[in-house]
Amino acid sequence: MPVQLLKEIEDEVTNLLTDLICINTTNPPGNETLAAKYLTEKLSQDGFKCELLESAPERGSVITRLRGTGEKSSLLLLSHLDVVSANPKEWSVDPFGGVVKDGFVWGRGALDMKGMTAIEVMVMKLLKRNGVELKGDVILAATADEEQGGLAGVDYLLRNYPEKIFAPYILNEGGGLAIPTQNGNVFTVQTAEKGILWFKVTAKGTPGHGSMPNVADNAIIRMNKVIEKLDNYRSQVSLVPTVKTFLTEMAQEDATLKELFTHLLANPELSDEILNEVAETAPQLAEEVRPRLRMTITPTIIRGGVKENIIPSECETVFDCRILPGQISAQAIALIKTLLDEVDSEKLVFESLQAQEPSESKAETPLYAVIAAVLRDFEPNCGVTPMLATGGTDSRFFRSKGSVCYGFQPMYPELSSGEVVKREHGIDERISIENLVFGASVLYETVKNFMS
Ligand SMILES: [Zn+2]
Repeated sequence: MPVQLLKEIEDEVTNLLTDLICINTTNPPGNETLAAKYLTEKLSQDGFKCELLESAPERGSVITRLRGTGEKSSLLLLSHLDVVSANPKEWSVDPFGGVVKDGFVWGRGALDMKGMTAIEVMVMKLLKRNGVELKGDVILAATADEEQGGLAGVDYLLRNYPEKIFAPYILNEGGGLAIPTQNGNVFTVQTAEKGILWFKVTAKGTPGHGSMPNVADNAIIRMNKVIEKLDNYRSQVSLVPTVKTFLTEMAQEDATLKELFTHLLANPELSDEILNEVAETAPQLAEEVRPRLRMTITPTIIRGGVKENIIPSECETVFDCRILPGQISAQAIALIKTLLDEVDSEKLVFESLQAQEPSESKAETPLYAVIAAVLRDFEPNCGVTPMLATGGTDSRFFRSKGSVCYGFQPMYPELSSGEVVKREHGIDERISIENLVFGASVLYETVKNFMS
C-alpha cells in the first residue's frame, strides 16, 4: 500500500502540542513534572503504563515502552520537555498561549522541541492502536533539563535507570528540516554535533586614575589584544565524515553548487575562498557550512571596570568555543593556552567553565537506510543527507555510550533553515500543522518499517 499522510490525526497531534505549550516549562527552573504528568494522562488513555522519574522535586521525565518480540534492537524516541525563556512583550502572540493561527501552532517550544514530543507521543499511540507487531521494543522518553545541559534529565536517567532508557538506536531533535535545491528537497538527518567548550579569560593589570593612562596598566587594553588574537585565529580545516557526505550530496542535488563543493572537497585548505564564492549565489548556505569545517571561538560576555575615572585592574571575557568531532576539549584548551601565551603569559588567567565533547554516529546503519527509504516513499525524488549540528543536544550522552543517534524531525522547508534557527530560542517560534502531520506520518512509517 502506498504511504500517505495521516490526515486523520491532525487535530489530535495539534492539541497535544498546544496543551504542551500552555504548560510553562521554562528552564530554569524547568517544572517539567507538570508536562510529564500531562503526557502520562494522555498515554494512559491508550493503555500505556508510564513511569514518572524526578531528578529533583518538579524536575520530572516520563518514560514508557511498547514491547517487541526481542528479535531486533530497541529504539528510543527521545525528546525534552523544557524550553528556554520567552519575553511576551517581544512576541506577536502569547508564547505560552498555545495559539493556532494561519495554519501554524505558535509558542515557545513549537520547534524546540514540544512539536516533536507531540509527534513521538502520536507515533506511540498509533503503533498501539494499529496493533503493529514489533520485533524490538520502542521506548518513549520525554525528559527534563536539556536546555541547561541535561544533568537533571538524560544524564540523571542514564546514570540511575539505564535499563529503562538506554537503547542502541535513538531518534531525537536536531535534524530533519529539508533544504530546497534545484532538484527538490534534500532532507537532513543530524548524525553529528560539535562539542562545546566555555571558558573565561581574566586579564590582570594595575589600577590608576583615568586621566593618567600611561601610569597604570589597563586590563581592558590587554583584554582587547586577547579578543583580537582569538577572533583572528583560524584553526586548520577538517572535513569530518558527516560534512564530507553533506557536501557530496548537496553537490549532486544542485548544479550551481557542484563545481564549488567538488573543488572544496578536493582542496579543504581553500575553503574560505571557495565559500566566499558560494556566498555570491547562496549566502545562507555558505555561512552554514563555514562553522562546520573548523573549531570556532566567539566572545560572548565581557566585564571590566567599576567607575568612569578608574583604570581597571581586571577585565574578564567568556568565550564560546565549538570543536569538531574527532577533537577533544583537552586539545582545544591546550591550543587556546598557547595562543594566550603569545599575547601575555604573565597577566592572563584561563579558566574552563564547561566542556561537552563532540559526537558523531555513522550514516551507514539500518536505521538511516529506513529513514532514507521512507522519505523517498513520501517524496520520490528527494535527497537525504547527514548533517553536523553546530549546537549540542542530549544525543551526545547516548553516543558516548555507543548508541546510534539521529536528529530527525522531518519538516518541509516552509521556513528556511535561517528562519528556523532564528525562531528556535527566538521570537514568534511556530510550526505549521502541515509539518506536524508530515512529521508524524514519516516517523510512524520509519518506526514501523525499522521494527518489522
Ligand atoms: Zn532542543
